[in-house]
Amino acid sequence: MKNYTNLKRVLSLFVFLICLPLLLPAQTSPEAFLGHKVGADRKLADYNQIQAYFQKLDQESDKIKVLTIGQSTLKKPMIMAVITTEENMAQLDTYKNITKKLREARDLSPEDAKKLAEEGKVILLITCNIHSTEIASSQMAMELAYKLITGDTPFDTNKVLKDVIVLLVPTTNPDGEQMVTDWYQKYLETKYEGGRMPWLYHHYAGHDDNRDWFMFNLSETRAMAKVIYHDWIPQVHIDEHQMGSTGARLFIPPFMDPPVPSIHPLLWRGVNLCGANMAYDLQKNGFSGVVHGRSFTGWWIGACDDTSWLHNTIGLLSEMASVKVATPIYVDPTELPSSYYEKRIDFPDPWPGGWWKLRDIVDYELTLSLSLIKTAYIYKNDFLYNFYKMCRDSIDEGKKGKPYAFVIPKKQWDYPTSLRMLDILMLGGVEIHQAKEDFTAGEKLYPAGSFVVLMSQPYKPYAQALLEKQVYPDMRQYPGGPPEPPYDNAGWTLPLQMGVTCDRIKTPFEAKLERLDKVPHPEAIIPSESSSYIILDSRHNASFAVVFSLLEDGAEIFRTKGCINKDELKAAAGSFIIKNSPQVQKALPGLLEKWDLSARGVEDIEDIPKSSLKKHRVALYQSWRSNMDEGWTRYVLDDMSIPFTTLHNKDFKGTKKKKVNLKEKYDVIVFASESPEIIKQGKPSPDSPYAQYYTEMPPEYEGGIDKEGVDALKEFVEQGGILATLNEACGLVFKEFKVPARNVTEKVNRTKFFCPTSLLRLSVDNVTPIGYGMPEETPAMFSDSLAMSTWVPQSGDWDRKVVASYPKDNILLSGWLLGEDVISRKAAVVDAKYKKGHIVLIGICCQHRAQSHGTYKFLLNALLYPEDI
Ligand SMILES: [Zn+2]
Repeated sequence: MKNYTNLKRVLSLFVFLICLPLLLPAQTSPEAFLGHKVGADRKLADYNQIQAYFQKLDQESDKIKVLTIGQSTLKKPMIMAVITTEENMAQLDTYKNITKKLREARDLSPEDAKKLAEEGKVILLITCNIHSTEIASSQMAMELAYKLITGDTPFDTNKVLKDVIVLLVPTTNPDGEQMVTDWYQKYLETKYEGGRMPWLYHHYAGHDDNRDWFMFNLSETRAMAKVIYHDWIPQVHIDEHQMGSTGARLFIPPFMDPPVPSIHPLLWRGVNLCGANMAYDLQKNGFSGVVHGRSFTGWWIGACDDTSWLHNTIGLLSEMASVKVATPIYVDPTELPSSYYEKRIDFPDPWPGGWWKLRDIVDYELTLSLSLIKTAYIYKNDFLYNFYKMCRDSIDEGKKGKPYAFVIPKKQWDYPTSLRMLDILMLGGVEIHQAKEDFTAGEKLYPAGSFVVLMSQPYKPYAQALLEKQVYPDMRQYPGGPPEPPYDNAGWTLPLQMGVTCDRIKTPFEAKLERLDKVPHPEAIIPSESSSYIILDSRHNASFAVVFSLLEDGAEIFRTKGCINKDELKAAAGSFIIKNSPQVQKALPGLLEKWDLSARGVEDIEDIPKSSLKKHRVALYQSWRSNMDEGWTRYVLDDMSIPFTTLHNKDFKGTKKKKVNLKEKYDVIVFASESPEIIKQGKPSPDSPYAQYYTEMPPEYEGGIDKEGVDALKEFVEQGGILATLNEACGLVFKEFKVPARNVTEKVNRTKFFCPTSLLRLSVDNVTPIGYGMPEETPAMFSDSLAMSTWVPQSGDWDRKVVASYPKDNILLSGWLLGEDVISRKAAVVDAKYKKGHIVLIGICCQHRAQSHGTYKFLLNALLYPEDI
């Protein structure tokens, strides 16, 4: 009987095991799901398919959990897959808490940290496809997930996943993945196959979506910041990209010089270790053309992976050689430059040339991703403990000073903007304190309510890099030769960009400080309902946003011609006087609250010199060459709820019967920074270095505003319109109008003058309309920017007013500047009057990547130019 029962048990177990595959759904391969192999020539999965595939795996396996981590700008769900063992999956909160404890580090002894490192799991984040045309990684992610959950890896998958929690984001820009796939499929098998889109692959930022990782303007970066600095806190992070087609097949770290000085040396060792292991595994498997130590620097550019360095997370970048989206390319060996044809220590196995396909990229990316997962497993305890050690060292180092803290005084030129800066810092994981009592630091007295960022904190490298001035090393191509340009920014100092006063305090000080959970936003002071008029100070960017909304409601508004200095009431020149009305009373409290703004009531405005302000119809030009600066300008306008119309080339052209009349429809036309050739002809001039990269577009997207558009613009200004040109777009005015100004930096040799994206000092005339609300001196972002010399106009049609200029010397504030004498005492912003209208030449990047809030007013004033001036 006993034997019979045992036999029955054995039999049922046997039946169960046989049927197991039928009871549990098998994991669907990407190939079975998509109907083609991942990376097959000319085949792409769009975002809907990628999402659906990950959801399917989530249903089919307990080793993967798909989370929605936010929403894209165009309202698509952003997904992240968590991949690990079933056992770990049941305890994710425990492991997340361990990494949090290791980061907090303050009250954790090295012994306890060691124990936690043993107990914990290393969290490894893989982000893909932030740049939408660099599309291979979004496809690869599906196969990587499948391999990990089915155990198809070069290592014992279960053993590895027992120690590693993989966070896999198939695309950090879902909108762009969809756009690029749609565009690619639309033009498949035409001569435009694999060509560029006429618009940005991120609604606002395009390629700059990977320059937003400290500013968090975009909903995608905000969602990822929450994952990285608040919810999961990974120890290792790789961001997978693609680069040009004719160099190395793959770049992986080590990076090249220079490094950001505030980064912990152990961090670079971790980066180099992971990079070397990836290169080793790739080489072992016969992948050629892998390079390190070239092109990509350790200087921060506000990108995804390199923001990780500043948070003590091993941040890695992979850059694969591109194909034409999903179309294979052939690279003739003679087309490979000698630096990528000959063997070097940093490039020991050159790729010989030949066909290059999407699947090649997928194969390299699968191999390097799996290699990194293996490295995270091998160094699990080390990576967790050393994450603690770097955070702990940051805390200890910060106590010693040099610097000890940064103080953001309560008294600010533009207080609401300073609160916005603090919110941004906090989202990036920075600890902020507020003083409960007055205190002295660096021999200066600060009132209670001032904010303090102590350097003694886990993310000291990040806080310090954002708040201090950058000194970019003077690197030359050879001794005495031209400068070695940085990859992108040389300087980025956030308080300078945002026009926020922030003092660097070198030595320790005593103060009664309270750590903040969130930045306190004071309640708005709303003027009494009986006030006849309401004043909004032009110093605050937020005042402009409120004024635009009130103008939409039909409010009657004036701008003061000078400063108001009357009893209790003080306001800068160009401040706004709003006539009170039932509509104003209805809208104002909500607006003031939204913008952290206070307003004052006033009864009598008779003796205040003022001009009336009308609701200007604003238009912004958008070329078909996906101009990022146009995107950021649009972002600023949307962010401030400023209504505007987008103009395309056709809007500058009339019909056979009727010439175009721009003034009939618009009062202000803005051209974001873009080359005058692109604006006028839609393509670079043949002698431009960009000419070889020009790709032909479908006919409806070819061309520019043409001569007809330029003539229409001239008429627009003659009739009283305001033409605002930003940075490079000023070139259109120099070329096409007889404006009494020219750019002195044009065609100046780099050895004589060089200023790669840096912050410079400007003197501002703040009692002239375009300078209203600005301080007398301001930092301004210079990036391929202008220095103008103006002169007495020969024609009575013209006049000019220099609004802002570079001082005589000490022009550099943060970054790198060679040859300051070239721009010394030259104009940066000019208001040129032409007949009835104005051309506002803003020769600096006044809204750079929607970061430089401190100079927004140059543009905002052009949009709110008072009437009778
Ligand atoms: Zn990229």
